[in-house]
Amino acid sequence: MLFRCEYSQADTRKKVEKDMLSALGLEDTFQKVPWPLPNMVESTEDAFWDYRTTMSFKGELWCGQEKYIDDRLGHLLVYFADAYNRQNGGFAVAVIRNDYPKPSDVRYYEWSACKHDFRSKNIGNCLNRYTCTKCGVSHDIDSSG
Ligand SMILES: [Zn+2]
Repeated sequence: MLFRCEYSQADTRKKVEKDMLSALGLEDTFQKVPWPLPNMVESTEDAFWDYRTTMSFKGELWCGQEKYIDDRLGHLLVYFADAYNRQNGGFAVAVIRNDYPKPSDVRYYEWSACKHDFRSKNIGNCLNRYTCTKCGVSHDIDSSG
């Protein structure tokens, strides 16, 4: 697997890589990514781009060519969002190209180390804190803006 990251600072890159691999249940990039990914569900092109046009992915893994969908050889890209309700998780895109005469195919997925169950608590004016009852991660959302 190849890890890519939007951060250029070495120790930040290392931390994101470690966090992403850990969320996938892996120790290093020499291990194979689990398939299906943890708590993986099918998603849509809309959901993927809806996220990506408002937020950046912290990390990305190119997982090589395997038979990820329908016994057809394709690429898998795993994206680490790790923000808001997607902490310790993100998206994945499986891409089949150049499989003539069969058509190309792109499938979207969402995955997460935890099947989060967020409960909100008001912590001041329009500020709410969402905390997962299972793994304890939390994020704040200010609904005034
Ligand atoms: Zn959780």
